[in-house]
Amino acid sequence: MNAQDRALTEQNTLFEGMDFSNVEYMLERCTLRELVQGEKLLQPEVKNRHLYMILSGELSVHLVGQATLEHASLVAGECTGEISLVDGMNPSALVVAAKPTRVLMVPHDTVWSMVDQSHDVARNLLSIIAGRMRNDNSALISSHNKRAQYEHQATVDALTGVHNRRWMSEAFPRVLHRCKLDNSNSAILVIDIDFFKRVNDTYGHLVGDVALKALAKIMQVNLRPHDLLVRYGGEEFAILLPDTGVEQARAIAERLRTMVAANEVISGDLTFKITVSIGIAPTTQEGSLEDFFGAADRALYRAKELGRNRIEVSV
Ligand code: GH3
Ligand code: MG
Ligand code: MG
Repeated sequence: MNAQDRALTEQNTLFEGMDFSNVEYMLERCTLRELVQGEKLLQPEVKNRHLYMILSGELSVHLVGQATLEHASLVAGECTGEISLVDGMNPSALVVAAKPTRVLMVPHDTVWSMVDQSHDVARNLLSIIAGRMRNDNSALISSHNKRAQYEHQATVDALTGVHNRRWMSEAFPRVLHRCKLDNSNSAILVIDIDFFKRVNDTYGHLVGDVALKALAKIMQVNLRPHDLLVRYGGEEFAILLPDTGVEQARAIAERLRTMVAANEVISGDLTFKITVSIGIAPTTQEGSLEDFFGAADRALYRAKELGRNRIEVSV
């Protein structure tokens, strides 16, 4: 090994804080390997018999099944292959040269001889492995959080913050099923803004959006925690009221209708009011969710026909 490579090897984390000359002689059997960019150093399907100390260049670590996504990058002074050194199994990741890279290949038995010879090497090896575990844990946590965030985004309407139709298709049948098992009543409400096209035509689509948000907010704060509110279509919302008889459903709908009609929508200097029409369908033991929505939609249509800003119950 020439003086420059010796100096680079001495700087490896495996020898940190110790007298390198104590173990240097053990590195005689090590060989240098030069990797071209893109060359694979470690592969999960190929047994590994060396610890690799990076002297120059950069290695890219990819988790199994994620060959296109870099998990970590390793540079001069770091090493790789330590997990399979310790557990004797195949590499846990794919390691590829991100640039032309030079590594010192240290056979496993040489590393173990160094560990026997020096507590410092043993401690540094533990510290390298602990660092890997910490990195992997952070990656796991961040990937878990991202996933939870995506799942949340996929079930929530971005404009109003209430659940969307996709969530509804999973949640409503589940709750309905429970109501059926308990032999309890429930009701479906379908809510549609009256003459909403006019709002958009008069004030513009963005102001229309403000009205939609205001409507969602009013309904959210006036429902019970176990009521299920969703934005069902553009300016249509649906509510499943579990454990609710038809008269109670009517009272809840009436409360929502009056709250909406009384509320001023404020957008900049503009203030205006909107009204809603609501169709109600009580659920029955026999029918399906589609049946109940059909019935609520027909009741809503009647409420529109009969003049809007009103409630109709399916017959
Ligand atoms: P009706 O009383 O019969 O319901 O009359 P309407 O004008 O409300 O008629 P309809 O329910 O068919 O109108 C739906 C309108 O809602 C059409 C569309 O421009 C508007 N709309 C749908 N989604 C959105 C949205 O996300 N933002 C805004 N601003 N408008 C929307
Ligand atoms: Mg509509
Ligand atoms: Mg409408």
